[in-house]
Amino acid sequence: MANKKDYYEILGVSRDASADEIKKAYRKTALKYHPDRNPDNKEAEDKFKEAAEAYEVLSDPQKRSQYDRFGHAGMGNGGFSGGGGMNMEDIFSNFGDIFGDFFDGGFGGGFGGARARGGGGGTRGSNLRVKVKLTLEEIANGVQKKIRLRRDIPCSTCNATGAKGNAVTTCTTCNGTGQVRRVTNTILGPMQTASTCPTCHGEGKIISQKCDSCKGTGVQSSEENIELNIPAGVANGMQLSISGKGNAGHRGGRAGDLIILIEEEAHEHFVRDGQNLLYTLHINFADAVLGTNVEIPTLQNKAKIKIPAGTQSGKVFRLRDKGLPAINAYGKGDLLVEVNIWTPQHVSEDERKILENMRNSGNFKPNANAKKERSFMDRMKDYFQ
Ligand SMILES: [Zn+2]
Ligand SMILES: [Zn+2]
Repeated sequence: MANKKDYYEILGVSRDASADEIKKAYRKTALKYHPDRNPDNKEAEDKFKEAAEAYEVLSDPQKRSQYDRFGHAGMGNGGFSGGGGMNMEDIFSNFGDIFGDFFDGGFGGGFGGARARGGGGGTRGSNLRVKVKLTLEEIANGVQKKIRLRRDIPCSTCNATGAKGNAVTTCTTCNGTGQVRRVTNTILGPMQTASTCPTCHGEGKIISQKCDSCKGTGVQSSEENIELNIPAGVANGMQLSISGKGNAGHRGGRAGDLIILIEEEAHEHFVRDGQNLLYTLHINFADAVLGTNVEIPTLQNKAKIKIPAGTQSGKVFRLRDKGLPAINAYGKGDLLVEVNIWTPQHVSEDERKILENMRNSGNFKPNANAKKERSFMDRMKDYFQ
């Protein structure tokens, strides 16, 4: 991620380029470094991917303005498809059509189709998404969740071939490669393009008789119990992806992924703030004046804290390491306890007399300097500077 090149520079456009200029520039760059024109050229492939990433951001007005303001730092985790670089499949499924105007569909479509097949023929299965609700306690420790999932698995009758018995032959049009090469005349001169074989639709095989169980798809529906190991420290909205646990691909294609969306349940005591937990402790006025010991809940069990005599409302006590772990790092957050003085709604005659006596005492005059009207969150911010 270090030394990331400027997206405008990659596409060779000015920062105020129009959407149309950006599209044209991307087309030009992508064409230049297209894998079909640069076979087995790693550098070209990297440039091709780089251009796609730049285009992905600059072609989206919202992402573009975010990039303009914050640079690469504003692009979140890696910018493309949730981080960690991108692959050719993504590029072709997202932008493949951009080549269509130039190449009559043969370029992007054909290449993407061929790459999307994972060796054994057949197309890649779709991703599945599930939501998992977690309590803060589960997030604190990590948890194993069992879920029941309906998904496509390879057909057991035909062994995922989609064919009845051995009714499969190698496609003679493409000799089993799934691709046909042809020469197209383009504005840049003749160019060899690969496209999906029209006879076998890229599978390299012809099925003369379809499997009765799966009607030739090579998959069957199944309900499975799946155990999910959720690591400690996850947060609301995070997505975990388990490779190969999505739907099986048709006719032996690679399976999609299972994507788990984390949903955090509200907690009866705590509010989460990153790795820290916030807890509001109500004590009565007498305890604040005289001091006391109180027991407060933690995610693990309970903790005792000492409230010193003369504690002001709004004072924050910090219990180290009683917060949440980080998902990818050592150390834990803290539990921050904010003291709130509880005011009774009704008082007895005796209590009223005591209070009447106290209200005029010099000790009960608020100290003007200590009385700053600031919110809990404001003070939290100061706390960590
Ligand atoms: Zn079958
Ligand atoms: Zn074929």
